[in-house]
Amino acid sequence: MNLDLDPGLQQFRDEVAGWLAAHVPAAPLPSVDTAEGFAQHREWEARLANARLAAVSWPARYGGCDASLLEWLIFEEEYHAANGPIRVGQNGLFVLAPTLLAHGTEEQRERILPPMARADDVWAQAWSEPGAGSDLAALRSRAVRTDGGWLLSGAKTWSSRAVFADRAFGLFRSDPAAERHRGLTYLMFDLRAEGVTVRPIAQLDGEAGFAEIFLDEVFVPDGDVIGEPGDGWRIAMSSAGHERGLSLRSPGRFMAAAERLADLWVRAGDPADAALAGRVADAWIAARAYQLHGYRIASQAASAGRGPSAGGGFAGAESSLGKVYWSDLDIALHQTALDLLGTRAELRDLGQPDGRWLDGYLFALAGPIYAGTNEIQRSVIAERVLGLPR
Ligand SMILES: Cc1cc2nc3c(=O)[nH]c(=O)nc-3n(C[C@H](O)[C@H](O)[C@H](O)COP(=O)(O)OP(=O)(O)OC[C@H]3O[C@@H](n4cnc5c(N)ncnc54)[C@H](O)[C@@H]3O)c2cc1C
Repeated sequence: MNLDLDPGLQQFRDEVAGWLAAHVPAAPLPSVDTAEGFAQHREWEARLANARLAAVSWPARYGGCDASLLEWLIFEEEYHAANGPIRVGQNGLFVLAPTLLAHGTEEQRERILPPMARADDVWAQAWSEPGAGSDLAALRSRAVRTDGGWLLSGAKTWSSRAVFADRAFGLFRSDPAAERHRGLTYLMFDLRAEGVTVRPIAQLDGEAGFAEIFLDEVFVPDGDVIGEPGDGWRIAMSSAGHERGLSLRSPGRFMAAAERLADLWVRAGDPADAALAGRVADAWIAARAYQLHGYRIASQAASAGRGPSAGGGFAGAESSLGKVYWSDLDIALHQTALDLLGTRAELRDLGQPDGRWLDGYLFALAGPIYAGTNEIQRSVIAERVLGLPR
């Protein structure tokens, strides 16, 4: 297999790297889970969008630049290698947008995607409920038919950054009499609409990374239903494929962390510690394997004529394989770095680049939980990929 980039791809990589080198803020932005940090991340997204780099794989008419899946993977590699800020619009860009490209109407795409790319509208995901996490189909929030649309009522929870976001997408029970996977409708709603209450959930660090969302007969027009009423589960599983597969957590994110880990080993590692040297090498190899896997998926998609919107790089249940892999890898990378830093690992004022490992580790611990827990993904892999009995 020839892994060299052809000249066109190399030129794309050089252009992206050049722009990022000139524009990525030298000092990290304040935490995205604070009002000030959120606003600054929004401004950063607008700069990306002005350079048509916010969503490179989207069609140009929505604000992208028609990049292939391979170009998108390269963009992501350069973005993470350059330490680009967290993507404040990630739920919209990487989960809702591919869903709209696959299942939305042209009117929805034209109306929703350009302001999403500029982060004029930042989207939150409103799926989980107090009684519906792993068992998402147990959700009880409901959508009741009314003139020209729907009235939404119920409670959602764990919605990342919903405190500061503008709009949300979620599943609602529209037919209580139907079998529980069939009576669901996929809807978008305004977080500032009448009847919506957003209540922050403070994390251990005191920042409001999550929110509960309460809905009391919130009106949503028919135009904000994605797909057909009652077909929400099927469309949500397409969103989940993007969330678990390459889209939300691209290989470039882990390759950049693996390179930082190798650099840390060279600067601070004890050459006599063969066990730790082995863990550094294993983590780097695992990140590289995921990167090559991404290239393989992209080449297959290109040969089959499928664009980036088709499956987030993984088809259906196979996205569960990717999810277990990247979430375990992220913990291994960060845990190894902390062990390498030893007693210094717990200091938050280590400065850059070493000061990022502790926060990164704490977030990596959430990887096996969000986007569907790894226990659930292993059941999906066993039953639907390997064909094992329930
Ligand atoms: C960082 C982070 C960000 C998040 N962001 C969002 C967001 O933006 N929007 C949103 O809607 N949600 C979000 N979530 C919520 C997330 O989707 C849920 O936490 C997750 O689906 C698990 O649901 P739960 O917390 O209710 O746990 P539960 O479903 O109660 O599970 C508890 C434990 O039991 C295990 N378990 C449950 N059922 C089974 C089973 N059948 N077989 C084996 N084990 C099982 C689980 O694996 C888990 O270990 C986020 C979560 C985190 C950590």
